[in-house]
Amino acid sequence: MSSTSQVTARVAVIGAGIAGATCAASLSEAGLAVTLFDKARGTGGRMATRRAEWPAADGSLVRAEFDHGAQHIQARHPRFKAAMRRAAAAGIVAAWAPRVHAAWPAPVQRESWVPLPQMPALARHLIGETPVHLGFQVQRLQRSGDGWRVVSVDGSTEGPFDQVLLAMPPAQAAVLLAGHHDRWADGLAALRMEPCWTLMAVTQDLDWPWDACEPDIRRSPLAWVARNDRKPGRSAPSGMATWVAHASAAWSAAQLEASPAAVQAALSQALAALLPMGTKLQWHHRAVQRWRYAVPAQPSATSVADSECWWDARRGLGVCGDFLGGAAASAGGVEAAWRSGDELADTLLAALDHETAAARPLDEQPRVQGQERFLAHAA
Ligand SMILES: Cc1cc2nc3c(=O)[nH]c(=O)nc-3n(C[C@H](O)[C@H](O)[C@H](O)COP(=O)(O)OP(=O)(O)OC[C@H]3O[C@@H](n4cnc5c(N)ncnc54)[C@H](O)[C@@H]3O)c2cc1C
Repeated sequence: MSSTSQVTARVAVIGAGIAGATCAASLSEAGLAVTLFDKARGTGGRMATRRAEWPAADGSLVRAEFDHGAQHIQARHPRFKAAMRRAAAAGIVAAWAPRVHAAWPAPVQRESWVPLPQMPALARHLIGETPVHLGFQVQRLQRSGDGWRVVSVDGSTEGPFDQVLLAMPPAQAAVLLAGHHDRWADGLAALRMEPCWTLMAVTQDLDWPWDACEPDIRRSPLAWVARNDRKPGRSAPSGMATWVAHASAAWSAAQLEASPAAVQAALSQALAALLPMGTKLQWHHRAVQRWRYAVPAQPSATSVADSECWWDARRGLGVCGDFLGGAAASAGGVEAAWRSGDELADTLLAALDHETAAARPLDEQPRVQGQERFLAHAA
């Protein structure tokens, strides 16, 4: 690839979760021609909100929503905290300090945020005007003389691109990298992610004194229960309560191939068991979701996950995601995904800067670092 083509680099980012969105935002802002691809119908990945509707007794439709993936964003790194506070000032996230009933000593309270009005809003904000192909499941990558092409499961092809960045769980990235970067593919295939079965339920409104609960996973299949309607900006249909209940990783792994009906019955019973004795639940709506790749298994710092992103300049390939972003920062979840996506954008931009340094006017201002850029325009 010539340095001219790299100045106006065409970049494909595959995966529009928080890692891909953060990476794409930084690269677009730096003037690169970025295109995002995601197999889902919307952006946000595991920062997701599910809608449900069902007929009431009078035939009218009742609607409810559930944040059925990530529950909240916890900020540990000072820069990420600052970015979240700016996002809060701009109305993109709201602080959430849930009253948590825990079976364990109370966990360390960190700043906690939820995007408004739904979980995907943060990724959507970051993506802005960057072009996104939704419903585009990349099945394989093709490399030829003029660059990379991405090929979907239904055969559509997009490209060429100078760089392809993968922002998805490791097992899925491994499939796309096989034959192009076998060492990375093998390393990613060895990284374990834990599954999570999630119950989304609507009951009658209840006088429950908590916003969330961390049950004792030695006694309950559940590891987390939240009153979704008590989170900032959320609500429930009149007279009802909306619940999101995540099963523990161990229970979910043991029931990975169980039928949704059996899982729904077991988790409903577990939720009822956490409520005050004698509470008779009226179920207005119930559904379950299986997250095959929910969170990186602990400890995530295996030998292959020892940096926050991977970048191969010769091939024009990069990898980011939550399973890498926690390596150096003991961060996890959304923060780790953000760190990894931001670090990959910075690494790629630094590589392009390096290659074009000779052509750059001497008085050019230094590039703003990605983590400073993050949501800067929201300030
Ligand atoms: C049940 C659950 C609870 C959680 N709770 C929390 C929490 O409370 N706090 C927290 O910080 N984190 C939590 N997490 C983790 C958090 O959601 C993730 O760490 C974070 O969202 C990961 O972002 P990501 O961009 O790395 O990956 P993802 O969000 O998984 O994004 C990857 C994207 O790639 C797309 N994709 C995959 N393969 C392809 C393909 N072949 N072609 C096209 N697109 C593809 C997917 O559709 C997806 O949109 C939770 C996760 C789950 C599942």
